Amino acid sequence: MGTGMNPLKKIVILGGGTSGWIAASMLAAHFKRERCEIELIESDEISSVGVGESTIPPVVRLINRLGIDEAEFIRETQACYKLGIKFVDWRTKNQSYFHPYGALGKRIDAQDFYQCWLKATMAGEQYDLQDFSPCAVMAAQERFFPPMQAMNTPIGGASYAVHLDAKLVAAYLRRYAEARGVVRSEGNCVQVLRKDNGFIDALELSDGRSIHGDFFIDCSGFSAQLVEKALGVEFEDWSSYLPCDRAIVVKTQVAGSRMPYTTATARKSGWAWRIPLRNGTGHGYVYSSQFCTDAEAKNTLLKHLDAPRISEPRVIQFATGRRAELWKDNCLALGLSGGFIEPLESTAIHLIARGMDFFLRFFPDVECEPSLRREYNRRMHADYEEVRDFILLHYCTSERDDSEFWRWCKTLVLPESLRERIELFKGHGILREDNDELFRASSWQSVFEGMGIRPLKYSPHVDNLDYGRISKTLKLARSAIFNMVKTLPLHDTYLEEHYGAAAESPTALPLNSGD
Ligand SMILES: Cc1cc2nc3c(=O)[nH]c(=O)nc-3n(C[C@H](O)[C@H](O)[C@H](O)COP(=O)(O)OP(=O)(O)OC[C@H]3O[C@@H](n4cnc5c(N)ncnc54)[C@H](O)[C@@H]3O)c2cc1C
Repeated sequence: MGTGMNPLKKIVILGGGTSGWIAASMLAAHFKRERCEIELIESDEISSVGVGESTIPPVVRLINRLGIDEAEFIRETQACYKLGIKFVDWRTKNQSYFHPYGALGKRIDAQDFYQCWLKATMAGEQYDLQDFSPCAVMAAQERFFPPMQAMNTPIGGASYAVHLDAKLVAAYLRRYAEARGVVRSEGNCVQVLRKDNGFIDALELSDGRSIHGDFFIDCSGFSAQLVEKALGVEFEDWSSYLPCDRAIVVKTQVAGSRMPYTTATARKSGWAWRIPLRNGTGHGYVYSSQFCTDAEAKNTLLKHLDAPRISEPRVIQFATGRRAELWKDNCLALGLSGGFIEPLESTAIHLIARGMDFFLRFFPDVECEPSLRREYNRRMHADYEEVRDFILLHYCTSERDDSEFWRWCKTLVLPESLRERIELFKGHGILREDNDELFRASSWQSVFEGMGIRPLKYSPHVDNLDYGRISKTLKLARSAIFNMVKTLPLHDTYLEEHYGAAAESPTALPLNSGD
């Protein structure tokens, strides 16, 4: 007797950037080749974006889930560890704060740590919130040690992500996926053939070949060949919230020690990143073309470099927003074809893996039931909105008014979702925290505190605890973290001891080249 199932026998991925190879790797790890054939088409003539060096901790979990040896991955992608992001000049000029990963304090007798800290602060005690984050303390001392090897110690709650070379990641995952049966075809997709019901039937390549499939994943980058050009799915523009629409990027030789964090410095018309890698340092200036020309942006970027350049500055244009449907018919939009939000919190690669996680959770047969698609779109839309709101929080709370760009930020009309979050927090320090949320309370608390926003009152539950107990626990916890971190290896030393000497940086370009 038939099961009524009509399984997908072939999935075609268009594009071999980070999203294409993440999709191929996750599918290859999930399916036996005989169950579902996977073919990836990419064109050597069309280059991938090739940026995307900073990640968040779930990316490390993805590597582990794929069964990839983390040490080998780190070595081959010239990666460094990342404990969080240092935000410089965001609230006001000459003021900085840290957004760490992992734990931010531990509960005190079942009471929420942040609330206990808040009560102590309101009582006049001088505790810096980040003194209770193992990652923030390690970052300040430029030290690193894997927390899973120190689980029952004061740094046990730490977490980490990596800084990596995006091109090397795509190459690594290509080897991984091909070894597990994914077929890569070189070719330029020039036409999309549709079935009577509108579903995609095949991709026609410039050499005349037609690649048929039951399901298609659009990883073709900003050009969105399938989801936009063929299926006409609308792009929801979020530039009224986030006006940055360009980045100028460059790589330099390594300068000094490699800090185990990304630096994001607010500048006149946007912000600049600094990302340490083993084979160089990635720099970029994200700006709004409404307030800054490309030439000005280039000047700003080059003026702040701290080491000789090893690549030419390159301008990348982008649109902020996401597709009205990320899954339409038998096509999924993944990576830049699905949407993009500026990389302030390094979330794009994570959203790719998340898109594949939900796809595997709601995996269809050839019918692609509308209810599955609706649920997928609902979940992914919630993720995109959460990222948008979290990024927006950095801008809308800034006190800067020293340029047209920052004055414009003061006129921002916030989405209702963020407005409500801020109100809720300002009252009693309450944060919504659903199971699936991307950023945990500690992330929101760190940014709120860094931007000078503290709740008016602490939660009344904390009064159940003896204040002496809170005060003593905070004192002990702070010194336990600090004293342990002092004994850990410097990040650079840890990298060298575990991964050997870094690859030589390429030769510096002459100063006048491309300037
Ligand atoms: C300025 C900037 C900074 C970023 N920083 C970060 C960061 O710090 N952290 C992070 O997680 N993410 C970051 N990202 C995002 C990250 O770069 C992307 O999410 C990631 O690279 C995925 O890109 P993609 O694979 O979707 O597209 P792309 O890299 O553009 O790849 C597109 C692929 O499609 C192929 N293709 C296109 N058209 C055709 C065709 N007609 N026929 C055949 N093949 C075709 C191309 O050959 C290419 O292989 C950043 C992005 C930008 C723009």
